[in-house]
Amino acid sequence: MSEERGIERLKPTIVAPPEGHSGSGFFATRMDQAVGLARKNSLWPLPFATSCCGIEFMSVMSSHYDLSRFGMERLSFSPRQSDLLMVMGTIAKKMAPVLRTVYMQMAEPKWVLSMGACACTGGIFDTYSVLQGIDRVIPVDVYIPGCPPRPEQIIDGILKIQDLAANESLRRRYSKEYQDLMTKYAID
Ligand code: SF4
Repeated sequence: MSEERGIERLKPTIVAPPEGHSGSGFFATRMDQAVGLARKNSLWPLPFATSCCGIEFMSVMSSHYDLSRFGMERLSFSPRQSDLLMVMGTIAKKMAPVLRTVYMQMAEPKWVLSMGACACTGGIFDTYSVLQGIDRVIPVDVYIPGCPPRPEQIIDGILKIQDLAANESLRRRYSKEYQDLMTKYAID
C-alpha cells in the first residue's frame, strides 16, 4: 500500500448531515432525519453465527476491513441491547425456535441481515434437518448471497441496512403493513 493511500485510510470518517437549514451558529432539520442519522451510525449487531460464514464475518470485523468505520464495532450478544440481527451460517431446524426467540427478545426498531446461501436458502444443505432459509421463521430486511460472501458483499449489505435505518419512518413500526408482517410470522 502506498504511503498516500495509507494516510487516506487513517482519515476519520465524517458523517454527512441530513438535509436541513443552517445559518450562523444553528442547524435545523427534521426530527425523523436526526433520529435516522443516529440510528444509522450506531447499529449494535448481534452476530448469530453458526458456521463458516461467521468466520468470514470475523475478517470483516478485523483491521483490514474494519467494520468500526461504520459505527458498529460494538457487537452485542444480548438481544435486548441489539438492533441488528446478523444470521450467518447453516440454521438447523432444531435451532429455528432459538433464532425466533432471539429475534422476539430484541427491542424495536430492529433489522435482520441474512448472510450467505445457507442462512438465505439452506444453501447446499437441502436436507431434512436444515432450515431452507431463515425467512421461514423471521422476517429478513437484507439478503447477502454467496458461499461464503466476500467481505465487500457483507459491507454492502450493512450499508443497505444503514440506508433502511436512516430513512425508515418513525411510524413504520405502527403501520398496518408492519403489523400484517408480524401477524404473518405469528409474532406479537
Ligand atoms: S453459505 Fe457457504 S460459507 Fe456460508 S455457512 Fe453456508 S456453507 Fe459455509
